[in-house]
Amino acid sequence: MNENERRVKQITQKSEDFSKWYVEVVQKAELADYTPMKGMMVIRPHGYAVWENIQKGLDLRIKATGHVNAYFPLFIPESFLKKEAEHVAGFSPEVAWVTIGGKEELEERLAVRPTSEAIIGHMYSKWIKSWRDLPLLVNQWANIVRWEKVTRPFLRTTEFLWQEGHTCHETAEEGEAETLRILAMYKEFCETELAIPVLSGRKSLREKFAGAQMTYAVEALMADGKALQMGTSHNLGQHFSKAFDIKFEDRSQTLQYVWQTSWGMTTRTVGALIMVHGDDSGLRFPPRIAPVQVMVVPISIGNWRESVLPAALAAVENLKAAGVRAAVDAREEATPGWKFAEYEMRGVPLRVEIGPRDVKAGQAVLVRRDTKAKEAVPLASLAARVPRLLEEIQAGLFAEARAFLEANIRDAADYESFKSVLENQRGFVRASWCGGEACEEKIKNETMATIRVIPLEEEKAEAGGPCVACGQKGQALAYFARAY
Ligand SMILES: [Zn+2]
Repeated sequence: MNENERRVKQITQKSEDFSKWYVEVVQKAELADYTPMKGMMVIRPHGYAVWENIQKGLDLRIKATGHVNAYFPLFIPESFLKKEAEHVAGFSPEVAWVTIGGKEELEERLAVRPTSEAIIGHMYSKWIKSWRDLPLLVNQWANIVRWEKVTRPFLRTTEFLWQEGHTCHETAEEGEAETLRILAMYKEFCETELAIPVLSGRKSLREKFAGAQMTYAVEALMADGKALQMGTSHNLGQHFSKAFDIKFEDRSQTLQYVWQTSWGMTTRTVGALIMVHGDDSGLRFPPRIAPVQVMVVPISIGNWRESVLPAALAAVENLKAAGVRAAVDAREEATPGWKFAEYEMRGVPLRVEIGPRDVKAGQAVLVRRDTKAKEAVPLASLAARVPRLLEEIQAGLFAEARAFLEANIRDAADYESFKSVLENQRGFVRASWCGGEACEEKIKNETMATIRVIPLEEEKAEAGGPCVACGQKGQALAYFARAY
């Protein structure tokens, strides 16, 4: 058994035990590690580099739509959180509190932010005076703490990282337009950068954000058939502006409450990348998000330092000049076979092998991570071929994920087939729903599935047949799934 085989066999097969596979990949690919504090993880450099690429792609889009970044305090006075009744009720079960500062007992305890509507609302009430101050379009990159009982790296951790946008508008229509603009931005980001196709739509009132008027979300399907919420965009209406007294003088000199939105995407998206694209050999990162897009591995035999290494180093320089994130692993202590397995596990989209025979032939061998297909390319045309090949890999991963999503959306006309799909096939079940919370509750209790989204375009269309749970007239076509 060679090094390569030994290494690959260290991971549980994905089809055998998905959650064990997930945790092993996270640790063995060095994305994250556990700490002595329950539910708190370290995002290791390889995982953080992925998050940095997510940040870059998202930040670019946030700014291109007119938003600016700011930073608000980590701590929020309890009295602020209590101002919006639904908000405090929704979040209080998972808030961490600071009661002592240094040696002094605090007069008012401080929440470690579970989200920042309250502190931002307070500040906005000071800053906004007139319609001329609107729209106010601010985003924050921050850490968040929610005291979770059951945790899993990236998917659910006590502390996590995210961006949270908080905007104020003159009219209800502008607030709704912003909410939908961000929803569309999240969808485009997931599909273009992460190669993850998503369903987008609104949440049911039962599933909405605590304090929002309406929540919209993009949802993806993981390889085990469970859904994962990728991002949410909330229309807050005037709930928080009334609670925090955020008023402005409108164009006819009348005092009005602003219309608000808030929206966020988190480090969960790293977990989605693992669960959507990963395979039995480990991670498969889409090139646009991969920390290293191309790993050059010189085949270390004979006098390779003189014959092969210069060609490998030149290849890396050419690729970098072509805008490719390329690196070389010229370590003597690891065999080429070990390196192949290692970079497959770490999800590097493309491997370039250069051995003595390749140098003589003036070529390199490219090995795709997604399909493991090989092709020989002249060294002289490497810098031209690789960027195109990376685009093909990006498109290939997206097409594969989309085919999986489409194959796993099933219609259910009655409750028996609804239950059967969730029990035997999982994925999304598209079914007619009467709009009643009792039916949602029953479905959740009996099948563990919740309404993930109600697509906007399908809601407008005929809702179809009777409610899948109660048989009364359907109000909307909803996508149900078990979810992370
Ligand atoms: Zn019903």
